[in-house]
Amino acid sequence: MEQQYDVIIVGAGPAGLTAGIYAARAGLKTLLIERYGAGGQILNTYEVDNYPGLPGITGAELGMKMQEHLDKYDVTTEMCEVEGIDFEEKNNRVKTDNGTFVGKCVILATGNSPRKLGIPGEEELTGAGVSYCATCDGAFFKKRTVAVIGGGDVAVEDAIFLARGCEKVYLVHRRDELRAAKILQNALFELPNVEVVWDSIPKEIKGADEGMVAGLEIENVKTGDRSVLDVAGVFIATGNNPNSSYTDAVDKDENGYIIADETCATSLPGVFAAGDIRSKKLRQVSTAVADGANAVYSAQAFLI
Ligand code: NAP
Repeated sequence: MEQQYDVIIVGAGPAGLTAGIYAARAGLKTLLIERYGAGGQILNTYEVDNYPGLPGITGAELGMKMQEHLDKYDVTTEMCEVEGIDFEEKNNRVKTDNGTFVGKCVILATGNSPRKLGIPGEEELTGAGVSYCATCDGAFFKKRTVAVIGGGDVAVEDAIFLARGCEKVYLVHRRDELRAAKILQNALFELPNVEVVWDSIPKEIKGADEGMVAGLEIENVKTGDRSVLDVAGVFIATGNNPNSSYTDAVDKDENGYIIADETCATSLPGVFAAGDIRSKKLRQVSTAVADGANAVYSAQAFLI
């Protein structure tokens, strides 16, 4: 017998956890589906310094606090992977590797995942010096030299975090200006063991005989000059791709993010998109949390 819910939330990052809290408080029979564990991408963030009221909190701590908050309420959680969804008004069938669940409403809060560079050495050396998560793997590179690729908030935060334990950190960026928030840039530029390598793109991650990263070949986009940085680790922080491949039934933008406005309503009735998976300008914990609340508000209106 398939289990039926008022709301099925897919994804337990800040948007999904907030939706869970709001849905339970609204008295909706709620299922939260998550594949790896609660917290989402903030678990990869050492410090979240712009979530109001909790300055300096670590990503892991914030995720745990949100989970503990959710645990106060009657929300069923299933750890499983969504394989597909048959959308039908008030009878949506969410198919997972652990059975099918039926929901009158579905809130898609599946977030996004790190984007790959697609250069030689990247795939082969992932886990052997190539990483997409500085807070997870940074400790392996104490007193070593590493490179971070990217110029956004994540790349700069990663470089700052790694500089605490590493001998030297190269931040390799393809332009002559960083995209990251000014406050992060200022903190970065003060660090004596960080060198920003401007106007440069990675071409190849080189491995040593023992199968570990031994260097990063880069090319200066202005001069065409190539050089090899002598690094033991390469941290890739070049943005994200949406986790939306489980459905083609909802309208998406050209990058695969699900189209919905602030109400979080998608192109399908009773289906909502919340958090980083939603097509929007600013992806932050605060905007994800706001989406979680709005999605439930809209779901309630839909159910009435
Ligand atoms: P992002 O803002 O999209 O930045 C990606 C960076 O990687 C950009 O600097 C980009 O260069 C570079 N890049 C992209 N493709 C590349 C390639 N193939 N080769 C070399 N460089 C490449 O991504 P993010 O830093 O992961 O951040 C994702 C979202 O989370 C953003 O909205 C960010 O604001 C948010 N976030 C916020 C906080 C915070 O507020 N504390 C913390 C973390 C993340 P260009 O600049 O030239 O495009």
